[in-house]
Amino acid sequence: DTVHAPVVILGTGLAGYGLAKEFRKHDQDTPLILITADDGRSYSKPMLSTGFTKDMSADDLAQMDAGSMGRMLKASVWTMTKVGEIDTANQLIKVGDAQTAVHYSKLVLALGADVIRPPIEGDGLDKVYSVNDLMDYDDFRTAIKKNEVRKVCLIGGGLIGCEYTNDLINGGFETETVDPLGHCLPTLLPEPAGRAVQSALEEKGARFHFGPLVTAVNNTDGGLAVTLNNGETIAADLVVSAVGVRPRIDLAQASGIDTNRGITTNRLLETSAPNVYAMGDCAEVNGHVLVYVAPLMAQARALAKTLSGEPTEVSYPAMPVTIKTPACPVTVAPPPQGAAGEWSFEIDGNNVKGEYRDAAGTLLGFALTGDTTRQKMALQKELPAIMP
Ligand code: FAD
Repeated sequence: DTVHAPVVILGTGLAGYGLAKEFRKHDQDTPLILITADDGRSYSKPMLSTGFTKDMSADDLAQMDAGSMGRMLKASVWTMTKVGEIDTANQLIKVGDAQTAVHYSKLVLALGADVIRPPIEGDGLDKVYSVNDLMDYDDFRTAIKKNEVRKVCLIGGGLIGCEYTNDLINGGFETETVDPLGHCLPTLLPEPAGRAVQSALEEKGARFHFGPLVTAVNNTDGGLAVTLNNGETIAADLVVSAVGVRPRIDLAQASGIDTNRGITTNRLLETSAPNVYAMGDCAEVNGHVLVYVAPLMAQARALAKTLSGEPTEVSYPAMPVTIKTPACPVTVAPPPQGAAGEWSFEIDGNNVKGEYRDAAGTLLGFALTGDTTRQKMALQKELPAIMP
């Protein structure tokens, strides 16, 4: 019966494990099952783009294995188990070959996001890596060693592309980074701030190609040729694709749960199916898809209370994003989509302070690079909450 049926969490990333930890603060007794398609090791995903700077292998980054997590959480953690179907009417999930069905009292989808794979042709695609979890990271580090890589081509100059560019430079590699838009972090930063990041990375030896798309990756004698649609070709030993992520919505879709850009929820993190919740990178909460750590921590705290009998809506304060480009530190709080206002800048070399204000002078967003990142706290206090 439903009363004794377990709470089941799908996913053991920062969202799934974060929720389980918060839940156990309120409820020590309800049976808890976590199911993951990967090996269930706990790790901090943001560390994946600082591995060369900090010289950490995948094993160094793994904080605990699935067994230890299970003991700590008084939970059962099922690893290498992909969930293919949810029967929302009978509150069952089907795992593996669908021979095993698990009954849930509450189900939480914490499925994360998939990397977007740009359409690229050629015979060198097996040397195009994307690093979105600890197992990818292990493969990537192994490939770097095995292929005696000296030069890496990065597809994408956004948050992850720029962090990897900086990290690989710190690791002693040559880099060339390609982005179809006009400057570093084009969807997060206004141009003067993006240019500051670009020139700081260029001073360290990074090279950028803004404007073209990568269309093909082919093997050559002793390396790879990366073809751009402006006629240029880049020689490299390995390619990292970092063009962005997309919430994993296919399982929800296949199970008749409402989705939009993400799995849609209200502020209680309830999906359209009874007793099914969503959080983390896969969720679209009250219209917001925010693929960062701070929002999922706020979700974990609220949902843990809800699951233990105290319905609690999630709220989001202002949550600036810090970009791990030590050559030029960045903190940005993008203004809300479509908010009327204007950027103004104070520029001193690679130290750029951008403020986005409306006609009444209210601060709606900011972008800080270099030394100006020290002003983050003061500006953050002035910002309105994302979801009060
Ligand atoms: P994930 O960690 O992706 O976990 C998803 C889980 O779902 C996994 O356990 C997976 O196995 C499981 N799963 C998926 N499908 C199934 C299925 N069908 N059946 C069973 N299990 C399934 N954010 C910041 O705020 N600051 C940063 O500096 C920062 N840096 C980053 C650097 C990099 C390189 C990357 C990739 C991301 C970074 N982020 C950063 C984003 C942040 O890491 C993510 O928002 C966060 O880790 C997402 O956690 P999650 O638990 O939602 O997803």
